[in-house]
Amino acid sequence: MTTHTRELGKFSLGVGDRFAHQAKAQLQACIQASHAGVDVIPVWNKSNREHNIIGSEPASTRAAADAAVQALGWKLPYFCDADHINLTTVDRFLSPCDFFTIDVADYIGKPPSPAAVDAFLQRRFSLVGSHRLPGASEPITIKPELLRATAAKFLFAVQEAGKVYRHVEAAKGKGSFIPEVSMDETDAAQTPAELLIILAAIADEGIPVQTIAPKFTGRFNKGVDYVGNVDQFRREIHLDVAAIAWAVANLGLPKNLKLSIHSGSDKFSIYSAIHEATQHSGVHLKTAGTTWLEEIIGLAEAGGDGLALAKEIYSQAYDHREELCAPYASVIDIDPAKLPPPAAVAKWTSQQFTSALRHDPHSAAYNPSLRQLLHVGFKIAAKMGDQYLRLLESNEKVIAKNVTENLYDRHIAPVFLGKPSPVAVLAHAEAK
Ligand SMILES: [Zn+2]
Repeated sequence: MTTHTRELGKFSLGVGDRFAHQAKAQLQACIQASHAGVDVIPVWNKSNREHNIIGSEPASTRAAADAAVQALGWKLPYFCDADHINLTTVDRFLSPCDFFTIDVADYIGKPPSPAAVDAFLQRRFSLVGSHRLPGASEPITIKPELLRATAAKFLFAVQEAGKVYRHVEAAKGKGSFIPEVSMDETDAAQTPAELLIILAAIADEGIPVQTIAPKFTGRFNKGVDYVGNVDQFRREIHLDVAAIAWAVANLGLPKNLKLSIHSGSDKFSIYSAIHEATQHSGVHLKTAGTTWLEEIIGLAEAGGDGLALAKEIYSQAYDHREELCAPYASVIDIDPAKLPPPAAVAKWTSQQFTSALRHDPHSAAYNPSLRQLLHVGFKIAAKMGDQYLRLLESNEKVIAKNVTENLYDRHIAPVFLGKPSPVAVLAHAEAK
């Protein structure tokens, strides 16, 4: 029996829909992309952590995605991503998901057996040398010590990825889902040379990986712009793309293997670099939490009960900020002194609230600390239950408009169509 392997497609966008109410508005942004000439495959991702915080099940994400696709008549593929799963958390995602982000960051640095390292070094010694890769301006150089050190650091993690992959394959069948391997939630960035060696280990493990998420240089904080050296990122991503192309040609990995960028949303400063580096290879861009913030923006913009609830969410998030921030400590940088007291926010107009929260680099009122706190504050809305969901429903129109515009204008257009990102627009305006 031959089975047809499901393929992700060249350009894809990971979208998060924490309360499973915005799938239509998100899909609308992909429809706009098709109209503009680029097909962007939507992937609804929600991590185990988010499901636990909200108290939802992966099947609800699938139901919302299916309903949106049905309602809008979307004919291209779409996927539901079991985001950041491992062997202990994957099972409840097996049935509703067809994309698995196998997160092995916790296993990086765990020692593999010496025999496994020796076998890898023997098998892959030809990686040693200076590789001039097509499309790369500088070579990737691998010395014997780097090969050994990278094997020692990553082999255990890749073996763990193999276990998770085979667990999913046994349950769902080969080729019926998209496997991703992610190593982004760790301290040290992986260099392009390390990425190449890791891909060799993934090929050895027999994982038909379609997307790989390394940790890039710089900070990818939740919901705010990139913090780091943009030129270094630009060099690195070009080399990563070249390393992947080499791995596809030489290691037997799937032809459509591409980078997955766990952006944490809104990395406007590096969108042009991502576009330049990936317009031929393709890319998967995850922008999970930004939609939940657009819900708050929409509620605030609606005024009345919506604005009152947005203020209440901020007030409670402020009071519980330590607890809310703890799980995300490595991916947020909030300056407590910049958080306005809830009593002050209580007097804000719709305009004051939305301009503090909306990520508009032009605006002096934009407050990244407030934005990051609300980004991790979705637990507050989850606890409000029906009160929150009812307001989402009664304000659907204004929220949907914000969700679609945000995804299309700020993310899809710069990354997939090469339009100026909001930051580039600002730099251009300042130069005038
Ligand atoms: Zn990630």
